[in-house]
Parts: sequence; C-alpha cells; structure tokens
Amino acid sequence: MPVICPKCDRPIASLTQWHYCARVDMDTLFERKEDQVIQIFDRLLEIVAQWPGVAFSATKACVVFVTNKTFLVVKPMKKALDMHFALPDAHGDEPVYKCVKYGGRWVHYIRLHEEGDLNRAVLQLIRRRMKRRAAPYAGPRPEALSLPIRASF
Ligand SMILES: [Zn+2]
Repeated sequence: MPVICPKCDRPIASLTQWHYCARVDMDTLFERKEDQVIQIFDRLLEIVAQWPGVAFSATKACVVFVTNKTFLVVKPMKKALDMHFALPDAHGDEPVYKCVKYGGRWVHYIRLHEEGDLNRAVLQLIRRRMKRRAAPYAGPRPEALSLPIRASF
C-alpha cells in the first residue's frame, strides 16, 4: 500500500522515494485540454483507481498511479492522453506506439485519443504491470511444478 507524504499529501510508494513534492491541483493538468481527454481520464480513474491498493496523485505534468511502486504515468495532452509503464518484455503491437528499453525493462508508450481507445488490450497491459509491482510471485513454487527433471547439466 502506498504511504502519504506529510508535506505534499500525495500517495507515494515509500517516504524515501523521490517524488515531485508539491501540492498540485489535478484540474490544472486538464486546463486547455479537449473534452475527450478528460473523458478518457475519468474512465481510466473509474477502472484503474478501483483496483486494490491503488492510489493516484498529480505531479507537475502527469498523474501517477502507485501501489508499492509507481506503475503508471499518465500525461494529459491537448488532444490525447499519453501514458507509459514498464514491462520486463517488449510488446510492439497495438496499442503501443513506442517501446524503449530503459534500465533492463521496456517502457511502453500508449496514446489514447478517444474513450474507446481505453480498451481491454490497454487495460490488460496496465493491469499486468500493476500486478507485477503490487505483489510478489504467489504461484506454485518451482519444485511443485511437474517439470521433467534433467539428468545432467
Ligand atoms: Zn511530498
């Protein structure tokens, strides 16, 4: 779960994490942005902010979504909502328009122009990212998997 910074009241992953430590009014980020940008963002909040353990807050130019780590950065632009998040492997297909390797991970960029762009594929990618950060691997332990045992290495 995120913690709340006592200085800026923003939810952050930990008190030692660097963050933009200032109070930002969410509305100022959406000034002079077209209506559909606000609609897409509202829809995003409706869905992603409901996921367990998720908090969000505004920084200078972006809205960040955190659990125990920042997992999604959303930047409102004049006619689109730009977002990025990192995954351990690259997904080059739609809706990702840019995928950049950074510090051993792949940062995926997605730009939404209308509410319908916030579709299942986009949400699945974000959710995958969120889950990676929200909880350690909780599946079967390796020895519980029925893998063929290799006789020699
Ligand atoms: Zn702060």
